Amino acid sequence: MVTKKDRCSGYFSKLEIMTESERRRYHNRKLKQIITYAYEKAPAVKKKIDQAKIKPGDIKTVRDLEKLPITEKADLISLQKKNPPFGGFNGVPPEELGRFFISPGPIYEPGELVYEDTRWAQGLYAGGFRAGDICQITFNFHLVPFGFMLDSSLKLLGCRTIPAGVGNTELQVRVMKDLKVTGFLGTPSFLFAAVQKAKEMGLNPPKDLNLKTAFVAAEMLPESLRDSLESELGLMIRQSYGTADIGCLGFECSQKNGMHFPDDCIVEIVDPQTGKQCNPGEIGEVVGTCFNKVYPLIRFGSGDLSYVSDEPCPCGRTSPRLMKIIGRVDQVTKVKGMFIHPGLVDFVAAKFSEICACQVVVTREGHQDRMIFRTELVRPCSDPTILSEAIGKAIQEILRVRGEVEFLPKGSLPEGAKKIEDKRVWE
Ligand SMILES: [Zn+2]
Repeated sequence: MVTKKDRCSGYFSKLEIMTESERRRYHNRKLKQIITYAYEKAPAVKKKIDQAKIKPGDIKTVRDLEKLPITEKADLISLQKKNPPFGGFNGVPPEELGRFFISPGPIYEPGELVYEDTRWAQGLYAGGFRAGDICQITFNFHLVPFGFMLDSSLKLLGCRTIPAGVGNTELQVRVMKDLKVTGFLGTPSFLFAAVQKAKEMGLNPPKDLNLKTAFVAAEMLPESLRDSLESELGLMIRQSYGTADIGCLGFECSQKNGMHFPDDCIVEIVDPQTGKQCNPGEIGEVVGTCFNKVYPLIRFGSGDLSYVSDEPCPCGRTSPRLMKIIGRVDQVTKVKGMFIHPGLVDFVAAKFSEICACQVVVTREGHQDRMIFRTELVRPCSDPTILSEAIGKAIQEILRVRGEVEFLPKGSLPEGAKKIEDKRVWE
């Protein structure tokens, strides 16, 4: 019998407890290998390196990745149109592949993607999955790779799997009960729907179901939903982050304090304008480089914005952690050198129950950006100075730039007003 304590301790791989310098050496070595390999085998990678006017040997360290441009999903779609099926990013010829996957776009992906890759397995272990678990995978197995990636990774852990796929909630609940499923894999909303359905079917989920752990992805996991499901069902719920193309780029451990980087890839947080790597705490695009010879994506942009913490984690894993995913790169506005995202503006507003609507206006005066945080209040405030100071402090903490606070009469901001109004004129 696996106890809750067992599920919260240990690691899948010794790589997870490397020291910082060991990890740096490990990554540099793996990076050099994959660059050499991909330059020879994947024409798109060769082109990317040639166009940057460097040689494969010029990429010796993770920092050297800055010499290469970022490949975005949209680039992949146009490259694949020009050079089907994989745009030249496949590291083995199509005739040697075991599977082909198709993600929305359409983007064709070479399988087997789990080739030499234990990243999802690390994440599943950290999420409490252990040998012997019976795992119901409710992600898609149809066209896209994710279901297969998880299936193979669970087998590495010694788990048994049910490739349930999406939908069919009632059947899924019956399977969960009859086969005494201990591990759930799916979206947070489907887990919620399954629990609701179980109740409709007259079941008592904590008693009639045997769920011990859930691995969720592909959607935001609201903390309130996690708390209520964890306490109602007595299971642990951990989330992970990745893309269909590049695989796992982050997973939560027992501590629920951000998503550790898996070790068999390089995750960078990159300033979308300069392509330079950001420091911990600075917001940038999540960019991945994997060591997968079948599909060697080098500097692949996720399009998502986040930031990293390198504070030690009590779980003992030493990799940095991806903190909140803040939003999409194409929605950001750069103000005083910092990225402001609509999601962050809402994050500031959410801290104050007094605020019912808000908007950030950016102007430019005397060659400097000026940011005004305009808010409407639920009701007139007795001491606007104190509130204004508190909001100003939150702006500085969350948006990392100074902003002025302006109170507007209720109803001034039109319905559907832009969250960030950029009024700067560049001469
Ligand atoms: Zn941890």
